[in-house]
Parts: sequence; structure tokens; C-alpha cells
Amino acid sequence: MTTTLTPPRKYAAPAIKQTKLLIGGEWCDAADGRTFATYNPVNEEKIADVALAGKVDVDRAVAAARKAFESGPWHTMDARDRGQLIGKLADLIEANFDELAALETLDNGKPIRDSRGADLPLVIDCLRYYAGWADKIVGQTIPVRGDYFTYTRREPTGVCGQIIPWNFPMLMVAWKWGPALAAGCTIVMKPAEQTPLTCLRLAELAMEAGFPPGVINVVTGFGETGAAIVKHPDVDKIAFTGSGETAQRIMVDAASTLKRITFELGGKSPNIVFADANLDAAVAGAEFGLFFNQGQCCCAGSRLFVEKSIHEEFVAKVVSRAKARKLGNPLEMDTTQGPQVDRDQFDKIMKYIELGKSQGATCVTGGYRVGDKGFYVAPTVFDHVSDDMAIATDEIFGPVLSILPFESIEEVTRRANATTFGLAAAVWTRDVAKAHRIAHSVRAGTVWINCYDVFDAAAPFGGFKMSGMGRELGEAALASYTELKTVTMTLK
Ligand code: ADP
Repeated sequence: MTTTLTPPRKYAAPAIKQTKLLIGGEWCDAADGRTFATYNPVNEEKIADVALAGKVDVDRAVAAARKAFESGPWHTMDARDRGQLIGKLADLIEANFDELAALETLDNGKPIRDSRGADLPLVIDCLRYYAGWADKIVGQTIPVRGDYFTYTRREPTGVCGQIIPWNFPMLMVAWKWGPALAAGCTIVMKPAEQTPLTCLRLAELAMEAGFPPGVINVVTGFGETGAAIVKHPDVDKIAFTGSGETAQRIMVDAASTLKRITFELGGKSPNIVFADANLDAAVAGAEFGLFFNQGQCCCAGSRLFVEKSIHEEFVAKVVSRAKARKLGNPLEMDTTQGPQVDRDQFDKIMKYIELGKSQGATCVTGGYRVGDKGFYVAPTVFDHVSDDMAIATDEIFGPVLSILPFESIEEVTRRANATTFGLAAAVWTRDVAKAHRIAHSVRAGTVWINCYDVFDAAAPFGGFKMSGMGRELGEAALASYTELKTVTMTLK
């Protein structure tokens, strides 16, 4: 995916086109007129006021989604036409590429080079991938005993509540909408309160593409808005990406109606470098695997295990790359690190940096705030981190890398698995057998060998253990947006 435009050195902040709720195909204010502000993490200034959806608005959105599911044109639309609509949305996103990239950067703080180079292409690719699936979701014929004809159908799960975080605001929309729409579900989405703007723009483009009213509804707000979706008895499924604590609350809230649930949660992913690796590639992977997106990735390679014999050399190389990162205005193309998304995240990261120092790890670079406006954190590397330190056990979600030396494959496997998380892992080695031994023994949903953060719409993603339930992307995601129905007919 490319754009034909040569990007300017610096992007202008785009106009804010949409701040209302989308319910049943209409843009509206919250019933009680409340709003909340979204802020620019570069300068902590307000970007816009956005409608704050309450329970009444959620009720209306769920009713609209239910109607679209049961009796609207979505209900009877041919699967291939559904796919075409998803494809049309992808085309419209591509046609508005620069505006969307700049809006994502403005609201989230991520460098425009990443919005352009990673988020947008992945969004478009994901929607095109699922557009292709819409008419290929098939059942089976099953040879049962006796004079019967039995077949299965994959029917849409129904009304799906989708609650997403702020670290990849548009990409999370694509990961959620793509499989849900391909399967024939309808949607009530709540974007994160920190970053509602691109989701609203994507919903506008969905309306332009021609999705029938009520198929996609967007309600903006805080956790209470999300909780109202989760508790609603007429919602069939919740797809949630965010923190483990919120997921536990959602499980409790969804229990009384036994909703289908998928979770994509946090991680503390081991990135394991053996002495026989291509060291320069591993150093680049260690840097990218942790510092990409300001460290705000659920699969960040935040525990960097380095074999003892190369430890000194490796640390020196990683530190020099960390120091070379360019912090600045994320709307400028040469900026490689922007601010953290908000003050809460910034404060949490600074707390962990202090814990790292006080618990005895060696801070080899960074460890401080940059500037006094905006939530910038210097790329930080801790060496000689031991397994029980807070910076080795807890998800920090910031630009803080912990380096842990190791001596043997058995030792590193055991230590890599000594966590409640299991989202991702990586191994760097030229020894193919060793690479696959690690890949098979690390309990994580994704293992990268001699690479990091390689994502593809066709490749399932999700967590073992407390990193999640179910899988996103690929054919696997369709399973959680469909119910399997068995039909049996007598042939007598
Ligand atoms: P993070 O720490 O990444 O912000 P959260 O789990 O707090 O993760 O938030 C992820 C998403 O979940 C956001 O859209 C947020 O508003 C929403 N959320 C927060 N609390 C709840 C809740 N109790 N029920 C449903 N959604 C919630």
C-alpha cells in the first residue's frame, strides 16, 4: 500500500469534522447534552469537545443495532455485497489518507511517519482482507448416522459491543469492524476517551460508503459508557481491547447475560537474543520492539533477555540506538518519538522509572521527562534487571526497556514463561532448531523469529494466559463473530 503523494516535511493539524454520536445513521448530541474534551498530548491543550454518551444514548444505539441486525437491509443483504461495502470503506480511507494520518497523530501523539507508514496501511489492508471473507464464511455437510442430512451454518453472532483503547485508535477500529461486518454482525463501538476523533471520522466514511443505518453505531465516552454497553441485555458479544483490570470487570458485568467475550489485553513480552544472532538485526529489533509507538504496545518486547557472552556489546549498541531517537513534534516527518498519550500514562511510566532506580537496576540512558510541556519521556534503558523487580514484572506501556542477562536456553525459557502474561515473544538466533525450540516452548500467542512486530491481517493475534481470550485477525477472528448452527433433516 502506498500513496502517490510525497509527504511534506511537516503536516498541519487537520480540521475536526465530527464530534457527535452516530446512532441509527444519524449524528446526534448526547441526550443530556454532556460533552468531554480530548487533548493534544504535545502541548496538553484541548483539541475538541466530544459528545459524552450516557445510558440513554447506549440504549438507543443498541436498539438501532438490533433493528439493523434483525430487520434492516443488512439482514437480507447478500454476503458479497456486504464485502463490497467493506471494500468501499477501505477505498474511502485510502482517499482520505493524509487527513486521517494527521488526525491520528494530533489526537494520540504518535509520529506522523508511523501513522502514515504503519497504522493507515494496516487499517486499509485489514478491511480489504475481511471484505474478501464476507462471502467465504461457510459451513460443512456432516455424515451423521442414519437417514439424515446434516449441515452447519455460520450465522452472525448479532449485536456486538466493541470497546477499544487509545494506542492504535484507527487500527483497533479496523480489527474490530472488519470481521464483525464480514460476518454480518452489527456494531456499537466505544472508542477510548483519549482518542475518539479518528473513530468518528471512520464512521463518517462508513456512512459515505453506504452502510445501512444502525449497522455501525459509535458512542463516545469514558468507562461508564463502556460498562453500559457491557451490561446491556440486548448485546450478544463484547470484543474488548485494553487492560486486564477492565477485562475482569467486563467479565463480571457480562456474566448475567452470558455474553460472548473476546479480550486482547496486556503483556510483558520476552525478546530473547542469543549470542549467535545477527547482532545488528537483533539490536534494531530490540529497539523497534520496545520503543515503537512510544512503548505503548500490548506486545512490546519489554523484557530483553540477552545471552551473557554478548551482553556488554549488546547493551552498548541498544543504548546508542535509544539515544538516537528523535523526540519532537509528531506532525513533523523526522520525529521518531512523540509524547505519551496523557498525564495518567506519563505519571505511571515515571513511577516505574523511579521503582527501577530504587530497586537496584542500572539506568543506562534516559530515566527523565523531556521538556516541561507535553508528555515526553526520554527513551530509557535499564540494565542488570532481575526477574522480581517491578520493571520486569509489570506492564509499563512506555519507552522503558529492561535488559536481563541469561546463560542457557533452559534458563531463559523458564524465565520467559515466569509471567502471568502470554501475548508475544521473539527469539534472535542463526540456529534454526534453537529458534523453533523457543517458539514451541514459550507460552505466548505470537512468536517472532529474527523479527519483531510483524503484523498481517491474515495472521491471528491474541494472548495465552492473562493476555487475552480468543483471537483477532485472520480466519480465527471470524469464529468469534459467528454462531455455529447445526441443521438436520430426515431423508425419509
Ligand atoms: P487503558 O489502560 O489502555 O486505558 P482501559 O482498560 O482503562 O485501558 O480502557 C480501554 C477501554 O475500555 C477504553 O475505551 C475505556 O473507556 C474502556 N473502559 C474502561 N472501563 C470500562 C468498564 N468498566 N467497562 C467497559 N469499558 C471500560
